[in-house]
This record gives sequence, C-alpha cells and structure tokens, in this order.
Amino acid sequence: SILHRAAFTTSAARLDQLPEPGAPEVCFVGRSNCGKSSAINVLTNQRRLAFSSKTPGRTRLINMFGIPDPITQGEALGYLVDLPGYGYAAIGREAREEWADVLGGYLHERQSLAGVVLLLDIRRGLTDLDRRLARWIAPTGRPVLVLLTKADKFPYGQRIKAVHAIKKELADIGTLKAIPFSATHRIGLEEAAAHIENWISP
Ligand code: GDP
Repeated sequence: SILHRAAFTTSAARLDQLPEPGAPEVCFVGRSNCGKSSAINVLTNQRRLAFSSKTPGRTRLINMFGIPDPITQGEALGYLVDLPGYGYAAIGREAREEWADVLGGYLHERQSLAGVVLLLDIRRGLTDLDRRLARWIAPTGRPVLVLLTKADKFPYGQRIKAVHAIKKELADIGTLKAIPFSATHRIGLEEAAAHIENWISP
C-alpha cells in the first residue's frame, strides 16, 4: 500500500500554520481514545507514526504525514492529517473551544481536503460530540469513511448489528461508508486502505 510510505511532514498548532493546500489530504478525526493513532499506525504499517491521546503534548497538534511520490520525488502524492482528538474530559473549556475551532475550521476551510476518516468506537457508537462533528462535516460535502474501531471486541453477529445501527444514525452525512475495523486484529484494514488510497490517488 502507498500508505506504508507515509512519513511525518509537519505539525501545526493552528490552522494558519499549515502549509499551503496542495496535494489531496485525508484527515482522521475521533474522540480521544477511540483508536485513531492505532488505526493510522496499522494503515501505514508503522509502529509509532501517530501518537496516542495518552501521550501528553503531541496530540493537541495537527500532524501531517506525507506520502512521497515515487516518480517525481518532489511534492507528496497526498497527506494523511491527524487532527486532535476531542472529548477528553480532563481539559478546560477554553482548550475545548480551541479544538472546536481547529476541527471545524479545518473541515470547512481546507481546500485540499479529499476525504474524512471518522473513527468511532464500535461499542460506544455516536456520542453527542460525534454527532456535532458529523454535522460539521455534512455541509462540506466531503466523502466520509467511518471506521468502527475495536471491532474485535464484538463477535461477528453483534458487530454487524452495530454497523447497521450506527449507519442508520449517520444516514444524514453525505457520502458515507461505515466498516468495522480493528487495528489489533486487522479487521477492515484492506478495505479502509483501498478507500483512502483512492481519495489520494484515484
Ligand atoms: P487514540 O487516543 O484515539 O489515538 O487511541 P489509541 O490508538 O491510543 O487507542 C486507545 C486504546 O484503545 C489503547 O489502549 C489501544 O490499545 C486500544 N485499541 C486501539 N485500537 C484497538 C483495537 O483495534 N482493538 C482493541 N481491542 N483495542 C484497541
């Protein structure tokens, strides 16, 4: 997978610190602890490319990982963009609002945004914050891939039921695909990778 070539490019604390929009970007969003960094790491086949929300300091930043173009060796083919996790209980209101500005601003204004990977813990489904995020994404018209993470925690039948229930609830978000995913058990890995690759290099 071309995603395996992803390498850290840059971090930004604010939107105005991001590089000028260029090659297509696929962003990853989800609640703290939803399994976002595990998903990025397994998709890129790297152990520590993205940092867990349990790692202090690193996760309030937007982290960009470039996928080098093997032919031009110049500008990246595309980027994976790890947006700060939300819903972490132990932070103040001010920091929460700042995150909302960063997330909302990125989703609404980033011209190079090609697709959104929304990660939801399959056992929790949608929380209020997830619904709020979904409502930010909908008007952007960007395609969304929902990864229902930690799917290994459910037996197959329960997994399928959860996928149906969450899909039903998400039906109002434009182009939407939801698949069960597990970083530890590699469930849905190939399908998710193919989807993301297609946004970067159709
Ligand atoms: P982040 O905060 O969203 O980046 O989440 P992490 O990737 O750090 O994962 C949070 C916790 O969930 C960690 O304890 C992981 O080991 C666990 N986790 C992540 N992905 C999976 C998975 O696919 N299956 C299981 N069983 N646990 C997972």
